[in-house]
Amino acid sequence: MNLEQIVKNNLPNSQKGRVADYIPALGKVAPKQLGIVVYDLKKNNIEQAGDSRVRFAIESISKVITFLYAVNQLGMEYVTQHVGARQTGFPFNSILNLEIEGDHHPLNPFVNAGAIAVTSLVKATNSMQPFEQIIRFTRDICHDPQITLSTEISESEERTGDMDRSLAYYLKAKGMLKANVPLSLKTYFKQCSMMVTAADLANLGAVLANNGIKPWDNERLISSEAATYTKSLMMTTGLYNESGKYSAIIGVPTKSGVGGGLMTAVPNKYGIGIFSPPLDKSGNSIAGLSALNELSQKLKVDIFRY
Ligand code: GLN
Repeated sequence: MNLEQIVKNNLPNSQKGRVADYIPALGKVAPKQLGIVVYDLKKNNIEQAGDSRVRFAIESISKVITFLYAVNQLGMEYVTQHVGARQTGFPFNSILNLEIEGDHHPLNPFVNAGAIAVTSLVKATNSMQPFEQIIRFTRDICHDPQITLSTEISESEERTGDMDRSLAYYLKAKGMLKANVPLSLKTYFKQCSMMVTAADLANLGAVLANNGIKPWDNERLISSEAATYTKSLMMTTGLYNESGKYSAIIGVPTKSGVGGGLMTAVPNKYGIGIFSPPLDKSGNSIAGLSALNELSQKLKVDIFRY
């Protein structure tokens, strides 16, 4: 696979979008970047090209990790009683979708309301606050001990996060938040501000693709049931309100973040991590998605086509 060529073909598309400046610290990121990493489960190796080792904020891709951690800690049944699996059709920070499901639970864990609710489920232990547990688990599932928190980004999110604050108070008013509002939001803003690379996202995708077993040491980290459930949610809601369109065009389970990351899990075959900061209107990386599309067709992994 000539990944260098795919970077070359798709880097110009980064000019078509805008970096996420609604979070001021993210607005400073250099736009013209594209990195791709593919973890091949059969060969048990990775290929990479472009800006594959540049660190960026994980943002919404952390929603996958916290969901998996909560399932590990509390069980699938408990977590899915507190968050649904429905596509919303609304933007990721919409408050409308919360009213649709009424007092029951947020629609899914990959919109902000659902993610904040899931984060609030993570219980402090004697020795560790929820965020410390989440970042530890992130380092494990991404196979990268260097993952750290950007306090600049989390503080920037906190200063400008009025939509997320509204969602959290709404959740609390309806009894859908399990921790208090300040702690739930602090943990959520921090989890979004963990600094990862495209290689980290390829590793995360590889664990999901490999049904919950880390392919680098053959240890099971999450249940096969949790991996399957998560891939299916990524297919239906991973790219927000554009998920339907991209499942038809690209056809692989993918989760995006407004830091410009994309994480893909091709069942039993590949984990893919991509990074390119400029976004479309829904908050998905433009050059990232065009590169993923080319890759999906070249690898013949579109699950509806091959
Ligand atoms: N931290 C971001 C927010 O709350 C995450 C959104 C995203 O990546 N879609 O708005």
